[in-house]
Amino acid sequence: MSIEVTLPDGSRQPVPPGTRPVDIAQSISPRLAREAVVARVNGELYDLTRPLESDARVEILTPKDPESLTVYRHSTAHLLAAAVLELFPETQLGIGPPIETGFYYDFDRPAAFTPEDLEKIEARMWELQKRDLPFERVITEKQEGLRKYSGAWMKCELIQERADQQFSEYTLGPYFIDFCRGPHLPSTSKIKAFKLLSIAGAYWKGDEHNRQLQRIYGTAFFTQKELEEYLAKIEEAKRRDHRKLGRELDLFSIQELAGPGLIFFHPKGGIVRKQLEDWMRDQYHKRGYSLVYTPHVARAELWKTSGHYSFYADNMFKRMELDDAEYQLKPMNCPFHILIYQDRQRSYRDLPVRLGELGTVYRYERSGVMHGLMRVRGFTQDDAHIFCTPEQIEDEITGCLEFALDTLRTFGFENYEAELSTWDNGASGKYDGAPEQWKLAESALHKASARLGLRVKVMPDEAAFYGPKIDVKLVDAIGRLWQLSTVQFDFTLPRRFELEYTGEDGKPHQPLMVHRALYGSVERFFGILVEHYAGAFPVWLAPVQAAILPITDRQLDYARELKARLEAAGLRVTVDDRNEKVNLKIREAQLQKIPYMLVVGGREAESGQVSVRNRKHGDQGAKTVEDFLAEVLKLLENKAPSE
Ligand SMILES: [Zn+2]
Ligand SMILES: [Zn+2]
Repeated sequence: MSIEVTLPDGSRQPVPPGTRPVDIAQSISPRLAREAVVARVNGELYDLTRPLESDARVEILTPKDPESLTVYRHSTAHLLAAAVLELFPETQLGIGPPIETGFYYDFDRPAAFTPEDLEKIEARMWELQKRDLPFERVITEKQEGLRKYSGAWMKCELIQERADQQFSEYTLGPYFIDFCRGPHLPSTSKIKAFKLLSIAGAYWKGDEHNRQLQRIYGTAFFTQKELEEYLAKIEEAKRRDHRKLGRELDLFSIQELAGPGLIFFHPKGGIVRKQLEDWMRDQYHKRGYSLVYTPHVARAELWKTSGHYSFYADNMFKRMELDDAEYQLKPMNCPFHILIYQDRQRSYRDLPVRLGELGTVYRYERSGVMHGLMRVRGFTQDDAHIFCTPEQIEDEITGCLEFALDTLRTFGFENYEAELSTWDNGASGKYDGAPEQWKLAESALHKASARLGLRVKVMPDEAAFYGPKIDVKLVDAIGRLWQLSTVQFDFTLPRRFELEYTGEDGKPHQPLMVHRALYGSVERFFGILVEHYAGAFPVWLAPVQAAILPITDRQLDYARELKARLEAAGLRVTVDDRNEKVNLKIREAQLQKIPYMLVVGGREAESGQVSVRNRKHGDQGAKTVEDFLAEVLKLLENKAPSE
């Protein structure tokens, strides 16, 4: 008796039942068997050593296949847990999945893991790796499993919730056994490069009402070289961390007394932010948007009409009782702009109506997930809503995308990616709006991107339930991708609010509505800029553009006169009038990433010159004030991303 195996090239071969994917790899080539990580059997990922029982399509995956790294990292997480159990047998195991950057495992243990423990664990992982222990798959009956894990509360809970009558477990070495779907590598010697990175607190199942566990993060790669490159990248990311730079450069803070996720911009951060806001408002003006201002709270009734009251309730701050009604802080600006649109009768001649605002919104984020400026509870959107006719929509979308790309260019981002999220053609019924609306909207998004030569990746069935969208993601200086701008159709709100305009035919019509935010959140965009530039903002954004550094007190008058002159020309300038050595002043200005240091001694004071030092290019020699000003003003005029 034999079963039939079909390979990716379409060839078929009979093999005895019980043949393992690794045997098939071996029969193709020893090299493939060596490189094999996991198999895909009838579309499902399989251990290389799991016997095949019936006819199957079999594909052998190597490090080139994206799924392989996930399996490899999940196996490294098991290796971590096995090492922890050997060293600290009292530990209870939570979950240990692979993640985008590596893997983690959650542990419950009375004592806290120390950095020294991490080193010991890593050393033990290498010992286990050298012993070439197999990852063995075992099938267990649910009832038996519950008995077996009765001392392991988290595993028991998971088995109760997730296990079928029978479930798979994976063992590694004498101590470690895990309720786990797998698949895994055949054995530990396949794991070649890994590193434990950090210890963090994590709640069981991510819920802060549950017990707090200790999470060990690590990463793993197929080669040492890839691991080292990754570690260098994290070091670089740490150096650029906006929370660290935010403190060092005195840009912003989060105040314990006020609460988490609420941002305080300090004077220097305020200057940068003002540049962002001014630029955006100027652009609104140039591009035919009307600037509006709306309140921070509104009656619950408004949120009932918009629907947020029910479907967005988990993301909103709790309601507050006032004497006349319940009120709610706004999580979005859209309903407010709709009220302005609706405040008067609109005819087709008034359209398009483009209402823009730098609107501060509040959203409830769980305490564990907040992160510097990137994830907060209060933030300001550069939020605009466009109301237009079907005939206008393609031009409107083109305008939005053009605006988005100009925003990226202005702030020094050369590389970006765009995604167009579409619906499922109505297959699931989960999308709002009529098929004609979806067709019109998606075609406008396609045509507008084509007009601009913007290549979009189509993401089928990834749209919001209320309409399709284009997302633009930027690539920063160290290759990280950040979601930034969104141009999003909305078929739901115009219907809920019964929006209308009078058409050329004299009859009422429903306008199309588009939400668009280009910075997304001003706070978050600010954080991205800090990291992209590692705190060394382009001259036009820099909080202080030039620091005047007198060598002795005798040049103080000249320094102050100079400051007044540069300020009159529009520059942001400080004088370091402390009684300190000029080298120290230079060092500190350099640490503050001030673009220009103007050293003035007796010679400069007499000749009316300045000795220019640039933060990137060092000493530029003596220049007349006119020459220096001309150079800087040109950079400012062009909003040059670097000097
Ligand atoms: Zn597992
Ligand atoms: Zn909106």
